[in-house]
Amino acid sequence: MKKADLRDLDLSELEDFALALGLQRYRGRQLFHWVYGKSVDSLDMMTDLSRESRELLSEKAYISRLREIRRQCSSDGTEKFLFELEDGHRVESVLIPEEDRLTLCISTQVGCGMGCTFCLTGKSGLARNLKSSEIVNQVLLVQKALPERRVVTNIVIMGMGEPLSNYNNVTKAIEILKHPLGPAIGARRITLSTAGLVPGIKKLGESNLNINLAISLNASTDDQRNQIMPVNRKYPLKKLIEACREFPLRKGRMLSFEYVLLEGVNDSPEDARRVSTLLKGIPCKINLIPFNEFPGAPYKRPSEKSVLGFQEILTNNNFSVFIRKPRGRDILAACGQLREE
Ligand code: SAH
Ligand code: SF4
Repeated sequence: MKKADLRDLDLSELEDFALALGLQRYRGRQLFHWVYGKSVDSLDMMTDLSRESRELLSEKAYISRLREIRRQCSSDGTEKFLFELEDGHRVESVLIPEEDRLTLCISTQVGCGMGCTFCLTGKSGLARNLKSSEIVNQVLLVQKALPERRVVTNIVIMGMGEPLSNYNNVTKAIEILKHPLGPAIGARRITLSTAGLVPGIKKLGESNLNINLAISLNASTDDQRNQIMPVNRKYPLKKLIEACREFPLRKGRMLSFEYVLLEGVNDSPEDARRVSTLLKGIPCKINLIPFNEFPGAPYKRPSEKSVLGFQEILTNNNFSVFIRKPRGRDILAACGQLREE
């Protein structure tokens, strides 16, 4: 029989697992704390279990890890980790230090099937979904690679892949990351970014995860969006914006909209005005991302002047608008530059 990966089980599954082994239910809770809270890699380290229990466990279970293949540092302090999965596929995670926080950008799929024309991750299509263990392990292993005083404070689910097309594994991983007995990362410190899968947005709104939601808008008309984001043909702007308006927000919380600026494609003053109209009345902030170029990319990054002009129109319409500083471009770690190497 294949051994079970404890790191692919959530709390109730670990409790069931303990029971199935003839142990008491509360042992499942202990396992959860060892596997996710203390982040041990070996069953031998679970010192509050008897030796017999540990032996029994090691016959039936193991704790998966990812193999760190490479760790690159950008001149701006950003670090990119390349991990190998059990089946040889590879994914990347990016650590972004800022003044008051340490943010980790994690991946949810090997590649991506959404086919956005401006994104390197999407170029080679989708290989497969990540398991919950593979998503959580990115956080655990990066944290382990850091000195004790450097603690990952925020998670952005904006790496490789479309998180809402791997809904079950992604939400399972989020539950684990949030859990007080696990990494205990607060819901307010977790942000999921989606290309706009409307049913997934609705489901997320109905869940009690309460994490932050970011939407990659990237265009101001359906024609434009159809060209650069094929997902728009299935879920056009009207449906997408409607789902955003209906998304339940806790007091004081906002949605985020991301807008990749592509020179001559979606960066005109008219575009900025149409975006203002689309988003009017939605409690939100807007992140402008000047296009990050990659070899062979069919687009250009707009001039700083046109980026600032775009921002100004939105600001004048009372939106909070941030221009995302490119981080880690020299090591291809910036938005849309991750891929399976
Ligand atoms: N699939 C999800 C999350 C990963 S992409 C999504 O699309 O939202 C994360 C962000 O990077 C998205 O906002 C996307 O629009 C942006 N992005 C993709 N390629 C980019 C590029 N070449 N330059 C700048 N931003 C890019
Ligand atoms: Fe996938 Fe997001 Fe890239 Fe689009 S932008 S191809 S959804 S990772």
